[in-house]
Amino acid sequence: MVIVMNPKATQADIERVVARIEKAGLKTHLSTGEECTIVGVIGDKKKIAGLEMNVMPGVDKTLRITEKYKLVSRNFQAEDTIIDVDGVKIGGKHFAVMAGPCAVESIEQLNEAARAVKKAGAQFLRGGAFKPRTSPYDFQGLHEEGLKLLRDAADREGLKVVTEVVDHDDIELIEKYADILQVGARNMHNFELLKALGHAHKPVMLKRGLSATITEWLNAAEYIMSGGNTNVIFCERGIRTYETYTRNTLDLSAVAIIKELSHLPIVVDPSHGTGKRSLVAPMSKAAVAAGADGLIIEVHPHPEVALSDGDQSLTPEDFETLMGDIKGLTKFVGKVL
Ligand code: PEP
Ligand code: MN
Repeated sequence: MVIVMNPKATQADIERVVARIEKAGLKTHLSTGEECTIVGVIGDKKKIAGLEMNVMPGVDKTLRITEKYKLVSRNFQAEDTIIDVDGVKIGGKHFAVMAGPCAVESIEQLNEAARAVKKAGAQFLRGGAFKPRTSPYDFQGLHEEGLKLLRDAADREGLKVVTEVVDHDDIELIEKYADILQVGARNMHNFELLKALGHAHKPVMLKRGLSATITEWLNAAEYIMSGGNTNVIFCERGIRTYETYTRNTLDLSAVAIIKELSHLPIVVDPSHGTGKRSLVAPMSKAAVAAGADGLIIEVHPHPEVALSDGDQSLTPEDFETLMGDIKGLTKFVGKVL
């Protein structure tokens, strides 16, 4: 069960609720959000069923949620969550496009990419400054220098920044430069990182793990939300299957499933989802049709010399063409881009 406290509930109201639960031999988990406090009740279901919390002062509502994940559940909140990133919204009717290179490589590369994605109509500049590479000998990113380049280029073009956090020790630093903190597929199961992001001050985009089930993914989001950070965006980026023609198998059914099970927004990454430039446009369009709240697409001014993921990066020209098609499609499905 979760108990949603009224936004006007006092500290004494909250303490009384917690005391009552603990007296019944149950444990509590408090999440203190900006709007209100939520008290999770953990323990024996029979004891929980005996609790009558609705009548207590300061309690707004109580919800019996049988899934392990609660705060992310549609049963907990029926209406779509809309995340406001400094005026740019994601979720509900709002469609967001995040685009840019896989990795920040140089000032010239990033500025060129930022100019191109802005011109085509993206709202976010993506780019990794801390790169989780398969080989330790591959380019690992420019770290803080890369973050500065991202911020500068984005500010110049009027874009927001989304970039990956690979280590909880870097959260504070990355928060200074980024608008959305990305959890990469390899870190979806890194529960210490997720817990730390529960206390972060910026929205988190949580990519699906390489072979994560939907339930594991929802629980990963619950780790972040239960720490008090309610601004979580899912990102479907393909999962590993027996198919090797594509880099991953993009699971577009995940979009519809997440929409059923959760109120949080979901964006799709057709670049990592397929690994092939030619497949990015058709899968982007399919993602819009499936009900996605946005796309994150790799765009490089010169994909043939990219330090990472050149094969799946669109040229600025290809991206512009795709954006034209996406704009028409979003209108058709009732979203605003
Ligand atoms: C990325 O977005 O550059 C990235 C590394 O993605 P993923 O974690 O999905 O592999
Ligand atoms: Mn990449």
